[in-house]
Amino acid sequence: MKSARTDIFTKGGISRRRYRRMAQFILLAVAADVGFVCVELAYGLNPLADIVQRPFLYLYLFLGTIVVFGVFGAMIGSREDLLEEMALRDSLTGLFNARYLQMRLQEELAAAKRHRIPVSLVLFDIDHFKRVNDDYGHPVGDRMLRLIGRSILSKLREGETVARVGGEEFALLLPHTSDKSAAMGAERIRDVIGQTILETDSGHNISVTVSAGVACAMDPAAHSTETIYRLADQALYQAKEQGRNRVVIGRQGVSG
Ligand code: GH3
Ligand code: MG
Ligand code: MG
Repeated sequence: MKSARTDIFTKGGISRRRYRRMAQFILLAVAADVGFVCVELAYGLNPLADIVQRPFLYLYLFLGTIVVFGVFGAMIGSREDLLEEMALRDSLTGLFNARYLQMRLQEELAAAKRHRIPVSLVLFDIDHFKRVNDDYGHPVGDRMLRLIGRSILSKLREGETVARVGGEEFALLLPHTSDKSAAMGAERIRDVIGQTILETDSGHNISVTVSAGVACAMDPAAHSTETIYRLADQALYQAKEQGRNRVVIGRQGVSG
């Protein structure tokens, strides 16, 4: 999985297989054509004389196999891209899902351990989101979730990943980032979410706040995906306990 920015939803992207598969299938077609000539040679035939005699027929066959194989390769590659998108993205917001986050977290923790660099995880949970559904209906809640997803996305930098990991929960993976820098980034996002207004069809302007928990694997050897996630979750719980609409940094070494 590459970490290049590839589209508006991606800061950490999904690889495109269409062109790779097309190239592989074209190579296969060329190999098949060369194979036919070799078989003819092995049987004592003289395909070269035949080719010289009917060049257009052979050119047509050669190009024909390449085009057919190429198109099949592109179709299969597109299908694989689509399946991967469906497996790794949240259908409501278009953000990555928890499965993708888990994969990226594993990669980043391994890299952090190798190079002794920090990696931070921030968990966001919308405050009193149930009230939005109760007061304005589920579809408005859905629109709000999409809007929040886009707000977080607008604040991301290269290499950072955001995922929707639960109903009204989002996670942010920040490579090369200490807990303090991550908390500052989380504050900026908390700020932008607080200022995001959703106008309902009935003319109401609604907004929400978020609470966030930050955890950092300063000593990567001591932190697995489970422990860093638990630490961020505990910090998020504290943020809720302390009155919501705030960012709390998880203490290293806390277990639970
Ligand atoms: P807290 O501040 O403690 O987090 O309060 P809360 O109301 O946000 O938390 P709670 O866990 O009680 O409720 C979460 C709500 O999120 C309830 C559920 O209906 C809503 N929710 C979860 N997934 C979706 C979704 O996909 N769409 C909509 N519209 N609502 C959702
Ligand atoms: Mg929640
Ligand atoms: Mg909530």
